[in-house]
Amino acid sequence: DAPRPRNFLAEIVEADLAAGRNGGRVVTRFPPEPNGYLHIGHSKSILLNFGLARAYGGRTHLRFDDTNPVTEETEYVEAIQDDVRWLGGDWGGHLYFASDFFDRMYACAERLVREGLAYVDTQSQETIREQRGSFDRPGVNSPFRDRPVAENQDLLRRMKAGEFPDGAAVLRAKIDMSHPNVLMRDPLLYRVRHARHHRTGDAWCIYPMYDFAHPLEDACEGVTHSICTLEFESNRELYDWVLDHTGPWDPRPRQYEFARLALGYTVMSKRKLLRLVNEQRVSGWDDPRMPTVAGMRRRGVTAEALRDFADLIGVAKNNSLVDIGKLEFATRADLERRSPRAMAVIHPLAVSIENWPAGKVEELDLPWWPGEPERGGSRKVPFGGELFIERDDFALDPPKDWKRLAPGREVRLAGAYVIRCDEVVRGPDGDVRALRCTYDPASRTGEGAARRAGGTLHWVHAGLSVPAEVRMYDRLFAVEQPDAEEDFIATINPDSLTVAKGARVEPALRDAAPGSRYQFLRQGYFFADPVDSVPGAPVWNRTITLKDTWSA
Ligand code: ATP
Ligand code: MG
Ligand code: MG
Repeated sequence: DAPRPRNFLAEIVEADLAAGRNGGRVVTRFPPEPNGYLHIGHSKSILLNFGLARAYGGRTHLRFDDTNPVTEETEYVEAIQDDVRWLGGDWGGHLYFASDFFDRMYACAERLVREGLAYVDTQSQETIREQRGSFDRPGVNSPFRDRPVAENQDLLRRMKAGEFPDGAAVLRAKIDMSHPNVLMRDPLLYRVRHARHHRTGDAWCIYPMYDFAHPLEDACEGVTHSICTLEFESNRELYDWVLDHTGPWDPRPRQYEFARLALGYTVMSKRKLLRLVNEQRVSGWDDPRMPTVAGMRRRGVTAEALRDFADLIGVAKNNSLVDIGKLEFATRADLERRSPRAMAVIHPLAVSIENWPAGKVEELDLPWWPGEPERGGSRKVPFGGELFIERDDFALDPPKDWKRLAPGREVRLAGAYVIRCDEVVRGPDGDVRALRCTYDPASRTGEGAARRAGGTLHWVHAGLSVPAEVRMYDRLFAVEQPDAEEDFIATINPDSLTVAKGARVEPALRDAAPGSRYQFLRQGYFFADPVDSVPGAPVWNRTITLKDTWSA
């Protein structure tokens, strides 16, 4: 059995099961609108819905909410399924499209009309909006509110037949124009929209509104627990009204709301994400800096890390901004467990070992999991007289507590020897070109254990290492709440991507499979890009640094 989630929705499900409601069934759904890629907020909803059903022996449907004909695209439908599957969501045979139910929804509309519970309004949209009033001002009845049933039937059929242009007529529920909940003031059920639909083509020119369609989709599919975000709290009354007047439904779905995920240093609305893509601020929906599921996948974040993150933040009943540090923490903790260690030098500085026998290569046998011998496995790392170290690991005039290399100082090269910097080779502008060093033959790691040196550096063999492109990704935005700014685009972090083209990686990484993960010693966690890597030349995406180095 799957672990029982601990949150208020699990409590509701348990209480329903204990009371024998819904015949003991638990059916949830994840209902994305196919107008963009999924983001990390959606992943929270996916994990919640699929997790709840799995824990209580139920099932979860994947339903594309495609009631708006103009914004939906097939590319999104494919990408969404791929991402849900990747997150571990298994909908079995229960893949639906809201448009599958257009006939049944229309039949419900006819029934409401027949029963005097809906009418066709032919006023302008502005007038209808003005007449709705507000929370402190009652609405005004439409002059068409009391049309006879037969006239409404005729008008609705003519709307359906295409006799009205867009905006010329709507179907409205007849509820109460002074209802304290403004959403209950004769809400729109259908509107005219002469647009081609990605699945139903030109079969329809009237389309149901969200508040009418959603409860009916849930009911047609036999959903028991319809979980949505808090903004829909006041829509619940209408959800219930629609079901109460179109049933009986068995099971009778109920709507529950939880807090939507908002995350620091990012934006989440699909409209804004689409703008980033369209304006080419990023390379696409799957750019590793995007908060999309596809972007995080390509960055190297795992589905397990997203699940750990979702567990860490829990399911709340009020909205709040989640610290992105929590996502980074979950990502690091997950990668720490699954990433073998290797060495890469991102900005190389040449080091020659003057007392190393000319031409000699020593094959060091270094474990993939230092400190965890029980995991086994090792690779050969060549050591020789010409090496590279990280440029930042050398300083001409180091600060007091410097633990790296400097003139006259000693350091250990990881898994190898202690070296001392004897001479600095400088270019015409005084820039550091190379270092001349000597090594201590008695200091090999594991043998000269007593031999101490300033610090331990990563390194690679100059001739036998492999050139590689390394992409260092950082937060896409420089401020915690880009949404709060006048233009979120202006807050893009200019250093969110730096590409190191001259990087060198140890030879064992030449054959790393696209999609594999490593910790590069002292640098962070890296992922072999599944799109741009070619055999023998992986491209490396930095998923995340080893420690939180962000200071803002
Ligand atoms: P956006 O405003 O980003 O376009 P949306 O709510 O319009 O998002 P949908 O495709 O309609 O996107 O969402 C599908 C499901 O995902 C809904 O059930 C919705 O409640 C949920 N969802 C969307 N965004 C979040 C979020 N930030 N946190 C949690 N759940 C979310
Ligand atoms: Mg939506
Ligand atoms: Mg939306």
